[in-house]
This record gives sequence, C-alpha cells and structure tokens, in this order.
Amino acid sequence: MSKIKFAVVGFGGMGGHHARHLIRENNHVEVHGIYDIKEERREAGQEEDFKVYQTLEEVLSDKEVEAVLIATPNDSHKEIAIESLKAGKHVVCEKPVMMSVSDFDDVVKVSEETGKVFMTHQNRRWDSDFLIIRDLYNKETIGELFQIESRVHGANGIPGDWRHLKAHGGGMLLDWGVHLLDQLLFMIKSPIKTVYSDMSFVLGDDCDDGFMSYIIFENGVRAHIEVETSNFIKLPRWYVKGYKGTGVIHDWDLSGELVLQRETDVKHEPTPIQAGQGLTKTMAPPSEEMTERRSLPVVEAEYESYYDNFFNVVRQDAEPVVKNSEVREVLVLIERIFESAETGKTITY
Ligand code: NAD
Repeated sequence: MSKIKFAVVGFGGMGGHHARHLIRENNHVEVHGIYDIKEERREAGQEEDFKVYQTLEEVLSDKEVEAVLIATPNDSHKEIAIESLKAGKHVVCEKPVMMSVSDFDDVVKVSEETGKVFMTHQNRRWDSDFLIIRDLYNKETIGELFQIESRVHGANGIPGDWRHLKAHGGGMLLDWGVHLLDQLLFMIKSPIKTVYSDMSFVLGDDCDDGFMSYIIFENGVRAHIEVETSNFIKLPRWYVKGYKGTGVIHDWDLSGELVLQRETDVKHEPTPIQAGQGLTKTMAPPSEEMTERRSLPVVEAEYESYYDNFFNVVRQDAEPVVKNSEVREVLVLIERIFESAETGKTITY
C-alpha cells in the first residue's frame, strides 16, 4: 500500500518535529511539503530541503497531498482543519484540538460529511511515567487507587509569543493541561461527578500561567491535576495513594518508589517523633516491620506508532488510537475547568 503523503502546516517547534522526525521516520507516511504563514519559517523549510508551499490554497490544491498535519497556534486549528477536510485531505491535528466543544463538533461533522479521517495528536498517552501509573491503577499493585496527583511544575514561565495570549488559545490549561487531562480520562473509565478549579496569573498575562483542578469521579477516585510555570522547586510528577500503599514518580527520569503496607500478624506501632514543639505518633514514619519498599514496575508500552495507526485508519478502516469521542470528553472537562475557575464554584457534571 502506498505511503500517505503529508503536508505539514505550521513549521514551528512542533511542526518541525513532525516533519523531521515523527512523519519522516515512519515507514507508512512521508512529508510531501511544508507551509507556514511566516516567510522566515518557509525559508527555514527551504534550507532543510523540504518542498515549500507559499499559501494554504497551494497545499490544498496539490492532488499529491493526501493528508495535512496541523501544528499552528491553537485558535487557527478549526479553520485549517475544515478547509483541509473540504479539500479532500485527511487531517492530523495537534492538541488542544480545538478551543471549544462546539468548534470540535463542527469539525467532526465536516469529517463525517467528507468521509475524511480527522485525528488528534495526543502523544502523551504513551509517556513511560503515565504508563506506570496506569499499570498501578489497572493491576491495583498498591491496592485500589483512590487518590491521583498529576503535576508538572516548571520555572520558566510560558514560552514563545502566542501562548501568552488568550485570543490565540494561550495559557497552560490548553497547553500541558490537555495532556494531563487526556491521560487521566484515558485511564479512569468512570464518569466525572464534580470539578473544582483555580487558575494562576503570576505572569500578568490575560491567560492562565497555571491551574489546579480537583476532579472527583463516580467510582470514588479523587484526582488533583496541576500545571504551574513559576515553581523553582518542583513537586513530584505523580503521587498516588491506594488502599494498600503509596507511590511516587519524581520526574520523567522515572525515579520514584512504592511503599506498601506489609501483611503481618503482629502490629508494630510507630515510634513517636519530636515534631516542632510537640511529639507525634500519627505523623511519625511507619515502622519498618509494617512496610515494604518496592521499585516502580517496568512497563513496556504496547506501542503502535501514532502514524502507523493513522495509516491503518486511513487505508484499512482500523480503530483510531485516539478516538474523537475521547478527545471530546477532554474538551468538555476543559470547559468545566474554565467555568469553575471563573465562577469559583464546584461544577457538578
Ligand atoms: P510555534 O509557535 O513554535 O509554531 C507555530 C507555527 O505556526 C509558527 O511557525 C507560525 O508562523 C505558524 N503559523 C501561525 N499561523 C499559521 C497559519 N494560519 N497557517 C500556517 N502557519 C501558521 O508553536 P508550536 O509549539 O509548534 O505549537 C503548535 C501547535 O502544536 C500548538 O497547537 C501546540 O499546542 C502543539 N504542540 C503539541 C505538542 C505535543 O506534545 N503534542 C508539543 C508542542 C506543541
């Protein structure tokens, strides 16, 4: 079966990564050309020997182009997606796929009408740190998980230009937030009960430079999701509690551990410790006899590359690894998070 020829629209950081690596290194797809609205980025494409289109119309009228990868600022995804689908191209769109649920519904409708595939690039479902947490969740290694804290803390503010502006879909909820929420909903197949959220505006932009959300699921799981960009000391990437133990993953280097309660006949009381001006047994470390330390599990990703899957969806009608219904649920949650942060209220689903 012939390779799928892609045009990369938006040759910035992520478009460049798709063009140079993700598409180029895959056996089923290839980069036919690139387009960027900025001349300097088109010139950069030329210097790297890519075929360069001067306008989007030129891309869409090229019969050899079978699919378009959209890696432009968030507010421009919708228009480019609809034009591309209507021109008969399949589309892979970067996250956050759209700025609202209704925009997403409009695009999916055009995808259905034209019979062209529309898929979102939610790549962090295959991050090793997330796969470990999902493994703990599914196998109940430290008992049934009931508390999941998923955080990313940076110290460098918001990068780039458009990410500082609400009108372009800037802000951290629509940036890292989308990844963390996608991971959460991909793992927990239970309806959400309530959402409470708050946003930070430390940088003084008109969009959030961080947010925290407290999400309670109907199956009892409580999730704390947090993205911050002004933290010079970071908290662990993951902190999870199960009924039989606690797990931590500090960073993407996968440092961390599990501490499990040991099943013993004899109860060993913890030794009280001095805590400030008082003594405490409640907050003392658990006795060594009552706990067991374990390494984090090694989890092999059953990884069908994203573009292999896209190829199979287009050529053989396979199930997409990232389904539009899943992506839509994340957008619904994002709208609830904005609503909660703006009103200061807990939102009931
Ligand atoms: P960027 O600013 O580095 O690049 C965006 C490029 O799009 C720029 O070169 C700009 O000139 C161009 N552009 C703007 N409007 C355009 C238009 N109408 N038509 C054609 N080109 C246009 O931004 P980035 O970091 O590459 O982010 C792009 C998209 O990729 C965003 O949606 C972002 O959320 C996503 N992204 C995803 C990941 C991931 O891990 N999946 C990582 C980074 C970025």
